[in-house]
Amino acid sequence: MTLASGIRFITEPSRSRTFRAGWVIKDPWTVLENAGITVAGGQIKKIVTPAPKGASVVDLGPGVLMAPLVNAHLHLELSALKNRLPRGKGFAPWVAALLRERDAAGTPTLKAAAQKAAASLQDMGVGLVGEISTLGITRQVLHNRRTAGVWFREFLGDEQEYLGHEEQDLYIKKQFPLSFSAAGHAPHTTAPKLLTALKKRTAAAGLVFSIHVAESEVEMDFIAGIRGGWTDFLASRGIDTAAWPVGNKTPVAYLHDLGVLDGTTLGVHLLHVTDRDLDILERTGTKLCLCPRSNQNLHGRLPDIGSLLAWNLAPALGTDSLASCDSLGIFDEMAFVRQQYPQIALPDILAMATINGARALGLGQLWGTLDTGRTARLLYLDIRASTPAHVMEKVTSYGI
Ligand SMILES: [Zn+2]
Repeated sequence: MTLASGIRFITEPSRSRTFRAGWVIKDPWTVLENAGITVAGGQIKKIVTPAPKGASVVDLGPGVLMAPLVNAHLHLELSALKNRLPRGKGFAPWVAALLRERDAAGTPTLKAAAQKAAASLQDMGVGLVGEISTLGITRQVLHNRRTAGVWFREFLGDEQEYLGHEEQDLYIKKQFPLSFSAAGHAPHTTAPKLLTALKKRTAAAGLVFSIHVAESEVEMDFIAGIRGGWTDFLASRGIDTAAWPVGNKTPVAYLHDLGVLDGTTLGVHLLHVTDRDLDILERTGTKLCLCPRSNQNLHGRLPDIGSLLAWNLAPALGTDSLASCDSLGIFDEMAFVRQQYPQIALPDILAMATINGARALGLGQLWGTLDTGRTARLLYLDIRASTPAHVMEKVTSYGI
């Protein structure tokens, strides 16, 4: 799907000015008709309604001005694997094919595809990202483009060398517009000692720590203490799990016992959660990101968004990679959510795609709405609507 023709992206104009549009979505619950946004010094200064007229006013047209969308979980690094992996044959064959194809592609091919995918994000309305990188090749790609968000270096296994080398802290840096942080891959793939060390370092830097959690049956079984194929697989890669504190628990409870769940941890997927898990997530203030299209493609299962919203867990949206999802667009993800979950209110869906994502990345003060003080990056959609409700209808189905 090509959205570029109907989208205009405004990035921190150097001069003070006011942008006017037929509709302005200040936040998912506030849609204003004929309003203007005044920006200066890279920030939103005020919203004016009705929109003023004059030489300093840029009239964008009758469409919708809104905050850029947030893709809170993606892997640009895997973009070269689009349409190269088996689907519908189970998770384990998919992971095996991913590792094989990624190694076969080689760094130059992976980097070229990542660059192309990164360049397409703005055309799809995505202005803030949570990029996960295992090989480290996308950090410079995003930094050079001045893409906003958090780049996470992801760690698997026990990677003991990380624990002892301070220079690795170079990967952890809080800065605008793109911070560098760290992620654990998942409870069943990253050693507990490494998870707690990574969490400690990202917390000290005031940054979010990310981890996939409660995604697959393999993960659930391993953390429940069922030894077998997965234990053998890790052993074959030189990882001894004998001392890992697994057994008779869920992945959420396991991470909680390790002490890594709090308001600056971003758990991704949450496909398998119990009421006790939801209680832990709510009490710890853990941030959540869901990737429903990827979940359906890989696992034939969808997250229980209704329960997560009922527990006020404010999930964000991500796409995962092009290896498991057909696009990195969040308009597409919103449209899918709307189709699959007709009972969810449209402002809740737009919140998942904007402010929830910004907060999940620890950037809710700078992004996610058009409130005063937020960053002056704006998204204009060339669509027509007749009422505020109609605006929400159009925006949440724009990806269809
Ligand atoms: Zn992922």
